[in-house]
Amino acid sequence: MNAVVIVGTGIAGITAAETLRAEGFSGTVTVLGAEDAPPYRRPTVSKDVLLGTSTAAKVQLRAADYWSERDIDVRTAVVAAEVDARGRAVRLGTGERLPFDALLLATGARARTLDHDAGVAVLSLRSLADVTPLRTAIDRGTGVLVVGAGLIGSEVAAAARELGAEVTMLESAAAPLHRVLPPTVGELYARMHRERGVALHTSVRLAGLTSDGDGAVLARADDGRTWTAGAALLAVGSVPDTRLAEVAGLTVDDGIVVDEQFRTSAPGIFAAGDAANRRCLFRGERGRTEHWNSAQAQGAAAARSMLASLSGSVAPVWSEVPMCWSSQYGRTLQIAGWPRADDAVEVHGDVDAFDFIALTRRGGRLVGAVAIGRPKELREARSRIAQDWEFDASQA
Ligand SMILES: Cc1cc2nc3c(=O)[nH]c(=O)nc-3n(C[C@H](O)[C@H](O)[C@H](O)COP(=O)(O)OP(=O)(O)OC[C@H]3O[C@@H](n4cnc5c(N)ncnc54)[C@H](O)[C@@H]3O)c2cc1C
Repeated sequence: MNAVVIVGTGIAGITAAETLRAEGFSGTVTVLGAEDAPPYRRPTVSKDVLLGTSTAAKVQLRAADYWSERDIDVRTAVVAAEVDARGRAVRLGTGERLPFDALLLATGARARTLDHDAGVAVLSLRSLADVTPLRTAIDRGTGVLVVGAGLIGSEVAAAARELGAEVTMLESAAAPLHRVLPPTVGELYARMHRERGVALHTSVRLAGLTSDGDGAVLARADDGRTWTAGAALLAVGSVPDTRLAEVAGLTVDDGIVVDEQFRTSAPGIFAAGDAANRRCLFRGERGRTEHWNSAQAQGAAAARSMLASLSGSVAPVWSEVPMCWSSQYGRTLQIAGWPRADDAVEVHGDVDAFDFIALTRRGGRLVGAVAIGRPKELREARSRIAQDWEFDASQA
């Protein structure tokens, strides 16, 4: 009987396990997760759960008996300590050795950190376990400093304002969400934050995070400006969790490098989700996608590749035009494709009325779509992006 081991109880790992069973795999499926919590919807961590409008129990992906009914062994609070790529086994933190015929590394990403003085109240937000310290800091009433106005920083700033905290947000770019939004939409978000009372400072080059001597955080910009708050949230991006892959001797380059079949450099070992670096078959470029829907789709595709490799066949090649969303102040922003702030932009609708779609082009080709209140048009634009870029399996 074949054994599949999956490291990571995030959406990529869990979807892979479900797909194995849905496709009729009858061997053993073991999913290992370092987190205490059963598999849950990570995007809720910076939204409903932080706001308190949902709970850890409500954001679980599946009911407790779902896994046993499918004979999927989901083990939480278990760390995969080492992978023996030649001997095809995973050693757990407990010392137990789990042999595998196929292994999926769905180890996700970790919050990027910045240098700061020891003892300074610096937080990050990635998991359910991170919510309580952040919520405690928000509720303390001594103000929160959010470093980084990307998707997570912006969502936390919005939630913290809704909870009545004083919020200062520092961003190195000219506008929030600068990496992914056309400037007109970035400016809309800057206005939204400021109208709701966030002290948003853009084009800030942070020079240091220290203590002000009274237990508060002191942020200093390189132009001499300073800000203080009871606690700081670092929301400056994430780094792929490649620790296990590196120890196993796999090729790593901004993520675990995989081919078109999600195969790593070691036979029998696959990777998917935020941790994996794979070539996009539409654009021909390598990279990582850090979106919920992508991690889910990759988990399913990687499971099919594992099944194919176990049966000596090859799975159909897969690639997608990515899509993600962000919720702030009760509005949902949807993003498809690979928009960048320097793309040519065509706006349909009314940005100020939160009813628009912005199509972005690069080199004449449709490359991205950004919308509020127009889900159907966003889906259509996503299909048009796929047509403009021509899926090319031969690049694989
Ligand atoms: C706060 C927050 C909000 C987000 N909001 C959105 C959103 O609104 N829309 C959107 O599209 N995307 C959002 N995302 C991104 C999305 O959640 C991720 O892209 C997705 O969860 C990635 O899934 P994954 O399975 O690849 O990895 P992860 O969800 O990171 O899961 C990886 C798991 O592997 C575990 N692990 C790692 N190493 C080991 C080991 N050695 N042993 C055992 N376990 C291990 C980790 O503990 C973790 O539980 C958000 C992310 C965060 C952090």
